[in-house]
Amino acid sequence: MLHPAEERAQETYYDVLCVEETASYEEIRAHYKAAVLRSHPDKLSSKQAIGDHQVVQERFLKIHKAWEVLSDAELRAAYDRHLKGLKSGPSVYADEIELKDMSVSDCGDAVELIFPCRCGDNFSITLDELEEMGFLLDGNRVLEGQDVSDLAPVSVTISCSSCSLMICLRIDST
Ligand SMILES: [Zn+2]
Repeated sequence: MLHPAEERAQETYYDVLCVEETASYEEIRAHYKAAVLRSHPDKLSSKQAIGDHQVVQERFLKIHKAWEVLSDAELRAAYDRHLKGLKSGPSVYADEIELKDMSVSDCGDAVELIFPCRCGDNFSITLDELEEMGFLLDGNRVLEGQDVSDLAPVSVTISCSSCSLMICLRIDST
């Protein structure tokens, strides 16, 4: 199950520097400089508590790290991809099924194995696709004499054509 509270993204480097994800290098630099001025440990007066110093120190390191990544085009691109991955959430596996659980559907030019998804649509994979992965099948049975235990992956992920659910199809030689 998904828990909205846990799903909420952590503070990103963009949040740390208070910039939009679409911000230009110039904007990011300006915000970085402002953030550094605001939170530089040297700005702390000696009257402040030790605890405050630690918080400020951590904040400063965070700002510096954010700048290091966002000021570098390559690192920033990689970080953006990482963020995108977080937003799309973890893969949702509805079920783990076996070949025999799938029904065979011959739709003319391709033979498909289908399994109903709870959204009403189907998970489907064609025999051709499975053959490309090295599995020779006769309908929903592995052709005899084939030792699929040597093949990797023996688990195939199939996504629903309508929703974001996926199932894990386990292919065993027995
Ligand atoms: Zn579905």
